[in-house]
Amino acid sequence: MCFADTIRTVEGYSDIIVMRHFESGAAKRAAASAGIPIINAGDGPGQHPTQALLDVYTIEREIGKLDGIRVGLVGDLANGRTVRSLAYLLAKYQDVKIYFVSPDVVKMKDDIKEYLTSRHVEWEESGDLMEVASKCDVVYQTRIQRERFGERIDLYEEARGKYIVDENVLKVMQKHAVVMHPLPRLDEITVDVDADPRAAYFRQAKNGLYIRMALLKLLLVGW
Ligand code: ASP
Repeated sequence: MCFADTIRTVEGYSDIIVMRHFESGAAKRAAASAGIPIINAGDGPGQHPTQALLDVYTIEREIGKLDGIRVGLVGDLANGRTVRSLAYLLAKYQDVKIYFVSPDVVKMKDDIKEYLTSRHVEWEESGDLMEVASKCDVVYQTRIQRERFGERIDLYEEARGKYIVDENVLKVMQKHAVVMHPLPRLDEITVDVDADPRAAYFRQAKNGLYIRMALLKLLLVGW
């Protein structure tokens, strides 16, 4: 069945569609043919808006503010949809500074950089995780996305393991700062970090439950 027909059919069975798809832009295409709300639950390497909502909620709860924060986005910035959506959403706040720390093969793409520049959000690329971690309120680590490399295992191998958040990174981080991660984790945050109160990723994951409950209620019932 073609994509639009599938959406029209599922629409007949449900009040809302939460869609995860391997293609960038799939949720947008679905929304064009649907008469019920569509939630983008991740469209390939495109966007992950509900993750960004729970991420800003987590930053607000953990750091106490969003205006004026310094955020280091680390890891697979080319394929990681969560960092793309988070950068986009952070641009709605005042005086935010974003540091991009990634292996060369998975740098943040120009569309997001251009968007940030057009919104007067300061951003900078850096190869020095320690320096960035020492300055940031949030170190947002991501996994290198093996599934996006296809046959290019050599490039995947080049990228993985370059930036690891471990006890040494914690040592240079400020007391109030936090480590976040959209999960699942591979080896980019060592497990000994978990015991540190600044490891916020399981609290972050739990916040996802509440944010998505709220979003469903908003779309199905209203305020
Ligand atoms: N869970 C996140 C996502 O759906 C991050 C990841 O898969 O690495 O994009």
